[in-house]
This record gives sequence, C-alpha cells and structure tokens, in this order.
Amino acid sequence: MKVTSAEIVISAVKPEQYPNNNLPEFALAGRSNVGKSSFINKMVNRKNLARTSSKPGKTQTLNFFLINESLYFVDVPGYGFAKVSKKEREAWGKMIETYLTTREQLRAVVLIVDLRHAPTKDDVMMYEFLKHYEIPAVIIATKADKIPRGKWQKHVKVVRETLNVVEGDPVIIFSSETGQGKDEAWAVLQQLM
Ligand code: GDP
Repeated sequence: MKVTSAEIVISAVKPEQYPNNNLPEFALAGRSNVGKSSFINKMVNRKNLARTSSKPGKTQTLNFFLINESLYFVDVPGYGFAKVSKKEREAWGKMIETYLTTREQLRAVVLIVDLRHAPTKDDVMMYEFLKHYEIPAVIIATKADKIPRGKWQKHVKVVRETLNVVEGDPVIIFSSETGQGKDEAWAVLQQLM
C-alpha cells in the first residue's frame, strides 16, 4: 500500500475517546523496546510519527494513527517492562483488555516479536490472550537485519513453536532498518480490512 498520509488523531485513555468513524483498526502490541515504534514508522514511511522509545513502557495511552484516511494503527503501550508498579500494570491491563475484547472495528492485532530470540513469557501470554478471545493475529518478527538471512527460517520456527501459532496467523520476517517484509505486511493487513 502506498501511504500518502499518516497522523496521530488521539491518545485515548477511555473508550469514549476512541474515534467513531468506523474505519478498520489494527492494534500494535509488543514488549517494550522490541521495535514497535520503528515498525509503525517504517510502515508509514515516517521517521518519527510513533516515537521510538528512550523511556520504554512510558506511554500508557492508546494512540490512534489515521492512515490514508482509511484505517487506523492503534499503538498499545508496551508490556513486560519490569519497572512499572503492580498498580500501573493492572491499569494497563484493564484498558487494553477493554479495547481488545470489545472493539468492533478491530480487525487484527499485530504482535511484534524479536526474530533473534524466542518469544518471552509476556509474548506468549499476549498471544494466548488473543487466541482465547479469537482475535486474529499477525506476528511480525522484527530486527531480521541483525541475523544472517540463512538463519531466518530456523528462527521463525522457534517463534512459531514458542507462541504455538495457530494456522492462519501469519509470521512475517521484518526489518525496520532494511524494509524487509514491509510489502508483505501491508498485503496481509489489506486482506484483513
Ligand atoms: P519500541 O519500544 O517497541 O517502540 O521500540 P523502538 O521502535 O523504539 O526500538 C527499540 C530499539 O531497537 C531502537 O534503538 C531501534 O532503533 C531498534 N530497532 C527497532 N527495530 C529495528 C530493526 O528492525 N533493526 C534494527 N537493527 N534495530 C531496530
């Protein structure tokens, strides 16, 4: 997809603030520092639309990015950041849970993982949550530029097996550095719109 416009429209903390123009939405989830902001920026050809993190885990809002006036990326706060308090984690959980389980416009969750490493416990929990609620997932295995191409498939296998990815949920090898996987990711998202 050729992205011609992308802008943040709202940082929401409660459902009343979500956009109400009924466009399809894709939520972006991943542990802090995995490369979620870089993924968003790469997908929309912008250097700095989603802020790449100097303070991981800090954003506690749902950020809605309107793309080509036709869909939203919804940036979900990164999870698995040890330094937030239990109370903050609970608040995080409630907001995300409400959004993910009740939002009609949600087409799929784009789950960002690191291709180099086996998904973490938090990644597994997030994926299990999505499957429990039968929410389609697209797994983006990013930072592919950090390992040799010849090893990609071996790493994809670890991602698939660790998350226990169901049939129909694609795993896409991605790099925000090189743009690897960008066209494939857009093709998959467009199919889901
Ligand atoms: P977020 O916290 O998930 O939003 O992560 P960021 O997008 O801020 O990325 C965290 C760090 O990983 C930054 O230093 C990025 O430059 C780096 N990074 C993200 N994606 C990639 C990638 O595909 N390749 C490489 N080499 N570095 C990446």
